[in-house]
Amino acid sequence: MADEAFREEMTPRERFDAVLDGKSFDRLPINLLLGDHASRVTGIRTSDYYLDPEKLIEAQVAAQKTYGHDLILASSSLLKDLGVKTVVPEDGLPYVEGNLINDEFDLERLEPPGPHKHKNFINHLEALIDALGPDIPVVVTVGGTLSTAAKLRGTENLLRDLYYNPELVHKILHFVVASVIPYINEAYSLGVYFAVFDPVASGSLIGPKQYREYALPYQREIIAYVKKVGARSMLHICGNTSKIWNDMADTGADWLSLDNTVDLEAAKHTVGGRVILDGNIRPADTMFLGTPVDAEENVKECLRKAYDNPRGFILGLGCGLPTNTPPANIHALVAAARKYGRYPLDPELFS
Ligand SMILES: [Zn+2]
Repeated sequence: MADEAFREEMTPRERFDAVLDGKSFDRLPINLLLGDHASRVTGIRTSDYYLDPEKLIEAQVAAQKTYGHDLILASSSLLKDLGVKTVVPEDGLPYVEGNLINDEFDLERLEPPGPHKHKNFINHLEALIDALGPDIPVVVTVGGTLSTAAKLRGTENLLRDLYYNPELVHKILHFVVASVIPYINEAYSLGVYFAVFDPVASGSLIGPKQYREYALPYQREIIAYVKKVGARSMLHICGNTSKIWNDMADTGADWLSLDNTVDLEAAKHTVGGRVILDGNIRPADTMFLGTPVDAEENVKECLRKAYDNPRGFILGLGCGLPTNTPPANIHALVAAARKYGRYPLDPELFS
């Protein structure tokens, strides 16, 4: 719902590009990390959302019209195209069943998906972009390299391999990069942005040394490719990343989406001179369990900490928006972003 008192002057794409280019904007862009909550907007089950591309598009468009957020997420179909078996409960979250890579031989038999698979993905992406219109930017999430490897090998197996079979891990990661890049290559000409979501690279699962060996080089390879084709990228790693913020900036990502477990102000002081920061509204405590007042307070808290980030700031969720978030909390977040995030930002308003 538009705040009548504030006439927006830019389209979401203009606003978002302005922040990425370090130019002035009408208000801070909002990155809701809104996935299957869209199913609640059109009143469908999550299984319909995940399994029927037309219903997914309808839901994402309806959600954007309802809330007015600035970025839409679209996932690449890489896992499905590789043959990963995903179970989609009738109204729950999808999960992976079984491991495609049980040993080295399984990996040797696997092939990166071919052009016929990409074509299907591009058709869905084009349909989403057509339905949203040219003013709404779409961010294609290509799986994080370590997280994709974990989906192929099994997370526990992969984390064990980091110690006992590093060679296999590197082979899988090379395979993941070779599989991801063609999707970027097919999609960038549609004017999309890219996001590397790498929850398994979290400081809660691996240490900084392992991040530098197993995550950073491969994330960097993907992000360098995005840069090479002239597109922009976001890097999101869940959990505590405070020891790797500078490494995350070293990937070359245009902006870092930070989890709500970290302190935005500390991130600003550590790495804010190098990269745009995005975050970090609490998805569970504020959005799912809280009230509209909590949402407004959380927006003000994020602004106090990072509105003056030297390289720029995007108001975003600390991690994915829970499916059953009460709509009133989302409206309150967006209204607060419009009220307090208006350019030029006035810290008196949110102090
Ligand atoms: Zn996350």
